[in-house]
Amino acid sequence: MSELLRAGAVMLSESCPICSLPLFKLKSGEVICPTHGRVQIVKSDEEILSITTTASLDELERVTVSAINKLRKELEDSDVSENDIDVVKELSAWLEILERIRRLKIIIRHSDKAQR
Ligand SMILES: [Zn+2]
Repeated sequence: MSELLRAGAVMLSESCPICSLPLFKLKSGEVICPTHGRVQIVKSDEEILSITTTASLDELERVTVSAINKLRKELEDSDVSENDIDVVKELSAWLEILERIRRLKIIIRHSDKAQR
């Protein structure tokens, strides 16, 4: 490990999936375990970030869609009343969120492709 550090490698917060020793990032950008050498699972900080961001957007999208469904049912079940205006406003806010989530996902997908 000290050899790696002397060579300018940086210790990462991620650990080896096999021996759970801390992983090191070499100057070349390669991620290695002191015992097992090159580790494929962790490719780059950017990729980890984009994977976790996508996962959290997926979760947010799921919550948003279920909120939209709930409001849609509310509209279906109610007689036309002044209450509906609030429901429609809320629905419109959720749809805006959904639109943003989907736009962000497209942006992430494109930037992933650009890195490869
Ligand atoms: Zn290892």
